[in-house]
Amino acid sequence: SSSRATAEKSDDDRFKGHDMLAPFTAGSQSADVNPLIIEKSEGSYVYDANGKKYLDSLAGLWSTSLGGNEPRLVAAATKQLNTLPFYHSFWNRTTQPTLDLAKELTTMFTANKMAKAFFVNSGSEANDTQVKLVWYYNNALGRPEKKKFIARNKAYHGSTLIAASLSGLSPLHQKFDLPVPFVLHTDCPHYWRYHLPGETEEEFSTRLANNLENLILKEGPETIAAFIAEPLMGAGGVMPPPAGYFEKIQAVLKKYDVLFIADEVICAFGRLGTMFGCDKYNIKPDLVSLAKALSSAYMPIGAVLVSPEISDVIHSQSSQLGSFAHGFTYSGHPVACAVALETLKIYKERGIVDQVNKIAPKFQEGIKAFSDSPIIGEIRGTGLILGTEFTDNKSPNDPFPSEWGIGSYFAAQCEKNGMLVRVVGDNILMSPPFIMTPEEVDELISKYGKALKATE
Ligand code: PLP
Repeated sequence: SSSRATAEKSDDDRFKGHDMLAPFTAGSQSADVNPLIIEKSEGSYVYDANGKKYLDSLAGLWSTSLGGNEPRLVAAATKQLNTLPFYHSFWNRTTQPTLDLAKELTTMFTANKMAKAFFVNSGSEANDTQVKLVWYYNNALGRPEKKKFIARNKAYHGSTLIAASLSGLSPLHQKFDLPVPFVLHTDCPHYWRYHLPGETEEEFSTRLANNLENLILKEGPETIAAFIAEPLMGAGGVMPPPAGYFEKIQAVLKKYDVLFIADEVICAFGRLGTMFGCDKYNIKPDLVSLAKALSSAYMPIGAVLVSPEISDVIHSQSSQLGSFAHGFTYSGHPVACAVALETLKIYKERGIVDQVNKIAPKFQEGIKAFSDSPIIGEIRGTGLILGTEFTDNKSPNDPFPSEWGIGSYFAAQCEKNGMLVRVVGDNILMSPPFIMTPEEVDELISKYGKALKATE
């Protein structure tokens, strides 16, 4: 076990001697290695600068849904770059791909009616935009005290000031004086970790909905504007909701006139085996955040979908409140929109949801077959997303000593054998590209098994 502690070098080490202040990296303590420089991608694989090939089990950062070298996306970008590389969408100006993408997204999302799309460049900006939309909406309705947000422990909503505040992960708060005071957190709905002895999933969901109701009542329902949730929690450790959870949560929100913001940044476009996470869990959101697979990550783009009720208020009230003075130079960037449009076209033409459902059982069953390993506490997920949590005695209460670095050790074994995974503490997270072939899923399972054996 002590070899585990020393065998691994932290990600930060790799950036010693380089000029980049690396995201989610700089600041941790330890000795040095070179960064892993990824140079090329091809389908489900990426190659490093030495030509070594890796199966990319996380699809970049849960994002390159169509894999590494989709020629149609390159062609769409090139065509747009040759025609109009940029024009903005402020005031009454915009570009055709921007308008077309807004139409496509509001039509595609059917879990609840969406009237408008607001474009941003990332998931974090989408969630920041959500807060401003909701504030503007409540100001327009003459209820300026209805401003607080409820998010969940272990949520990940991004890393800008507000998105980090909405997130429920302590590294995003500590040392940054966050969260901001208008953001409150409620329970993480992870049944395995948090259920009481003898409590069923339904009972657990009821208890969490009661806790949410009590929080709303304690703060005063007139002060609570919105609740934000990922349909399936991703970066916090891949945690699908327990039975009955969203049904019970939505009933509470409805009772107190609290808006539901669905953060679909990871779940959207097929990852869970439905077009959107909201379809899978019967969520009827008022606002939706999108990014990542919206463009298969070939261009940075995100979007906020807005319900007719909210967009009507924004349009009708702006004569009194002034315009919705929010947006970015690159909101609705034509090249990003052209690539996103082509991405959505490919999803449709190839029946991406069916494609995901074709390989998902092999992926889920293949990895979950390792559940008996003595070092695995829980393997969880659905569709093309999976988390493995290493604990002792199959118990959420018996973590391995953190200095053993089991998660990092497992990830290093994968990397050695040519596969990239995501590590969060002692969790291993995977969300492969939608285009993975059955043979590649077999390879993924076999590499996972090999790394597990070396780690046990
Ligand atoms: N929301 C969710 C659910 C995410 O998983 C992420 C990123 O992983 C974000 C928001 C933030 O997106 P970005 O990194 O594009 O700002």
